[in-house]
Amino acid sequence: MGKLFGTNGIRGVVNEDMNIDLAQGIGKAWGTLLKRTIEKPKVAIGTDARLSNHMLKNAISAGLLATGCDIVDVGLVPTPTLQYTVKMKRFDSGVIITASHNPPQFNGIKGVASDGTEFTKSVEDEIEKIYFEKSFKLADWNDVGKVTFWDGAIDLYINGILNAVDVDAIREKQFHVVLDCGNGAGSIVAPILLKKLNCKLTELYCEPDGTFPGHNSEPLPENLTELIKKVPEVKADLGAAQDGDADRAIFVDENGTYIWGDKSLALGAKYATKDKGGIAVTPVTTSSCFDDVVKQNNGEIIHTAVGSPIVARVMMDKNAVFGGEENGGLIFPEMQYCRDSAMAIAKILEIMAKENKTLSQLIDEIPKYEVYKTKMPCPHDKKEIVMKTLAEQTKKDNNVLKVDETDGVKLYLNEGWVLMRPSGTEPIFRVYCESKDKKLAEDIALKYKKIAEEIIKKS
Ligand code: MG
Repeated sequence: MGKLFGTNGIRGVVNEDMNIDLAQGIGKAWGTLLKRTIEKPKVAIGTDARLSNHMLKNAISAGLLATGCDIVDVGLVPTPTLQYTVKMKRFDSGVIITASHNPPQFNGIKGVASDGTEFTKSVEDEIEKIYFEKSFKLADWNDVGKVTFWDGAIDLYINGILNAVDVDAIREKQFHVVLDCGNGAGSIVAPILLKKLNCKLTELYCEPDGTFPGHNSEPLPENLTELIKKVPEVKADLGAAQDGDADRAIFVDENGTYIWGDKSLALGAKYATKDKGGIAVTPVTTSSCFDDVVKQNNGEIIHTAVGSPIVARVMMDKNAVFGGEENGGLIFPEMQYCRDSAMAIAKILEIMAKENKTLSQLIDEIPKYEVYKTKMPCPHDKKEIVMKTLAEQTKKDNNVLKVDETDGVKLYLNEGWVLMRPSGTEPIFRVYCESKDKKLAEDIALKYKKIAEEIIKKS
């Protein structure tokens, strides 16, 4: 059977692999599944700022309506706004039309469960099964769905954030923020939120535009050169950038230094566990600086497989105080169990206010590690046996303190850790190594890569 859903929903190039037939089919499959347990499902739908948003929204809506689902269209919203709306307004499900940070010719479909979290893999599998088997169950003529519109999602969401952070502490500081929404969906939320937090605002690309005229919407240093320049130029306290659908946020300190996502994630974890410990959740790929700060606060760390829905699910199950990914995807359970960039921006301001420190001072306190990344070819059919053999073999290695097989094989060593993780799509293993020393990180990575290559040869 075919696969449609990747790590972050379904994505593709518009009118090629992401087309209205696919969207309508997904709508019919999704609706068929919802109707199995709910008599009249109510589905919220929203889009990011891409040019193809109406086309795909109407196509998937048609499919959902045909199966008898009612639709509430909340318009152009960031992904976390749609997720929050589904949770708070008790919708049975949610659809967001977005391709996140991908180039403008892409678009995608992402599913939201009734609790506002991203679809689990089992729900996606079920939708795929109905789609490929074409076992759609269409409604009778008098039971097809209807569409209504609701424009309250943005207010609901902003108020949710204002209730989840220390507004007075932030307002008192009158922070100057340079905000780069990258012409994404965040443009219609973040400026309003920051003004409510009494911030002075310098805006870069804060108009939604699906052609992304400002820069590529992935918040990497090479795309944020203007933000990096602007922050010290206008003597701002902070620079903040969002990706296209505003679930991820990246920061620039007052000196114009780009803060990598592992550091802001660790800062969030440090603050969430301060004085009270608690559980913090992140994938196995995350830097040890996260573990260090949580341990310092007597907290507990859970490492999951890669993927924000997995992190969010474990956070819910374990009642975690914080979690996220090091790509700028921070998850604050006091708001909701998903990556949320506007909440992350407000929270970083709260940390700066309450700790009475600049962002560079706060980041300086996070332990530093050196990372080395490489890859190694391996045929798909050999990946399982290679991982199994590698884990068995290295358990006998005196230099290996612990073997973690959560996602790939991660070896904890005296000098750091190394992770061999199979790519889901390419015939390769990704090799990650982290240590206090750059050369050492490279040496360790190459040593274990060689061991794995031997195993591939023999298998
Ligand atoms: Mg995104």
